[in-house]
Amino acid sequence: MIRISAFFALLFLATPAPAATVLDCQRLLDVENGKVLDNRQVRIEGKRIVEVGRSVKTADDDRRVSLGTCLPGLMDMHVHLDMEMSPDSYIKRFQSNAGDYALMAAHYAGKTLDAGFTTVRNPGDNSNSTIALRNAIEDGHAIGPRIFTAGKALATTGGHADPTNGYRKDLMGSPGPESGVLNGPESARQAVRQRYKDGADFIKITATGGVLSLAKNGQNPQFSDEELEVVIATASDYGMHVAAHAHGTEGMKRAVRAGVRSIEHGTFMDDEVIALMKQNGTYYVPTILAGKFVAEKAAVDGYFPEVVRPKAASVGPRIQDTFEKAWKAGVTIAFGTDCGVSPHGGNAMEFVYMVEAGMPEMNAIRSATLTAAELLGVENELGSIEPGKLADIVAVDDDPTEDISELTRVSFIMKEGTIHRQ
Ligand SMILES: [Zn+2]
Repeated sequence: MIRISAFFALLFLATPAPAATVLDCQRLLDVENGKVLDNRQVRIEGKRIVEVGRSVKTADDDRRVSLGTCLPGLMDMHVHLDMEMSPDSYIKRFQSNAGDYALMAAHYAGKTLDAGFTTVRNPGDNSNSTIALRNAIEDGHAIGPRIFTAGKALATTGGHADPTNGYRKDLMGSPGPESGVLNGPESARQAVRQRYKDGADFIKITATGGVLSLAKNGQNPQFSDEELEVVIATASDYGMHVAAHAHGTEGMKRAVRAGVRSIEHGTFMDDEVIALMKQNGTYYVPTILAGKFVAEKAAVDGYFPEVVRPKAASVGPRIQDTFEKAWKAGVTIAFGTDCGVSPHGGNAMEFVYMVEAGMPEMNAIRSATLTAAELLGVENELGSIEPGKLADIVAVDDDPTEDISELTRVSFIMKEGTIHRQ
């Protein structure tokens, strides 16, 4: 008996509680109240924040870190981790297998976390690569942000997320709901249920044409009211929200009326769409960065296929103006970049463009923290530095509410209590 209890005592001594971390922040952003607080300490035990204040509990074996401005881990609501646009993107679709996409996604996830983004939403991937990556990151087998993913985006035949658009029929075939292409209510239901089975966290639909697909029109509505209704009702059965890619006005109106959680890009948003979004509490995820990137590349001969080029030139430059209009009208904005169109890791440039278009710095930061958490329905766990929440905290040297470009130089990154970079 004595031997046994001694053994357990030894075990107990050999596994002390993990040391806590105390962050000494010269400034701390209170995104909830829109305030910059001076000289705050944050105590982290395990994965969570346990105390925030001028002087928190400390112990001799605490790890102490001195920082400039502490703010919640950044959250990008629109990235495509398994791709990065280049002149050979279109041909690569014939060369890439599931494993290639997954490894590419793992690489870009690392770059995204390195930029201070501790959570991302991935609206559409190839071969469910980001579902596998999400799980690998959760299991500690890969390094990257926390991922909320839609898996394969849903489209109708010939629509923006029909992966066979513009390619040889004998090579690409004509995919159905299992591959995310639906027509009519039955296949809409099946396509959503397949995403649930695959392990998606939410549903992405392409409510209108898009810029980068090999199709002529970037704006036409591509879902009927009936299809939208079934997609949203079925997604809701499985606790999933629906995000709608949309450039054209008619498709946006249908999607907002049907009850999507968010409009992505929203390029040709008019006053009626804005009013509908406010009425329905629809989030707007602007992706100004992607607009700027494709407009710039449209001017380069040979960068895009000729069918894509005029769409990129006309849609791209408008998004920042749409953002300004929506923000001034009071639409709820959640930060999103569409990185993967522009290079991964450059996400924070979106902040610069948002502020350039008239949004105050603190609101831009809020859109990438608390508002993003609200969009995802995880505001009790993420989005602010408060006791009880997961310890996703980043820091920059100076005050980003005075110079927003500070956020392009994140110097400290903690995700779920683990320091990723210091
Ligand atoms: Zn996108």
